[in-house]
Amino acid sequence: MKLVFATNNLNKLKEVQEMLPKSIELLSLKDIGCFEDIEETATSLEGNAKIKANHITKNYQYNCFADDTGLEVKALNGEPGVYSARYAGEPANAENNMQKLLDNLKETSNREAQFRTSICLNLDDKQFLFDGICKGQILTKRRGEKGFGYDPIFQPEGYENSFAQMSSVEKNKISHRGLAIEKLIDFLKNY
Ligand code: IMP
Repeated sequence: MKLVFATNNLNKLKEVQEMLPKSIELLSLKDIGCFEDIEETATSLEGNAKIKANHITKNYQYNCFADDTGLEVKALNGEPGVYSARYAGEPANAENNMQKLLDNLKETSNREAQFRTSICLNLDDKQFLFDGICKGQILTKRRGEKGFGYDPIFQPEGYENSFAQMSSVEKNKISHRGLAIEKLIDFLKNY
């Protein structure tokens, strides 16, 4: 079966392909000739994942899944959430996003936060949702050089290191995205 992963991130694509049974061939957006910008206009992670998956199913007639991730900070009522990529405005900039978050948390001792990934799978005219959550806290200073986005200021629960101090293998085992992908893969294996 051919299955589109609505992404152009080849690292994500390769990682998921390696976890899937050989009978499932993953295709990227480029592989199916989809080069248009799919606007993520929903106000929830689930909503954006659905928009992306539905765009592919409707316009390209493929089974497809799409993901969307956000960082939800308790003291900020779940912000930046669905707006994580562009928290500090356009164009998206990880440094500015982290700085804005640190500034907004200056006065508060509650540093609780979670990353959440939502995956929408459109398969044989049915829709399935999967999510993955990684709980932790926002550090007061950046730590580590690896990863991307908010990794240097996020410390997962039960660990001494920030995400940016972990190898990608270590991070993927406990991360929001890793957990959501694991649920998707279990589902596909048993489908
Ligand atoms: P996306 O939905 O995977 O594109 O993620 C949206 C935004 O959330 C990214 O631009 C990052 O700012 C942030 N983000 C998502 N996943 C991670 C992660 O694993 N570590 C740090 N930041 C992340």
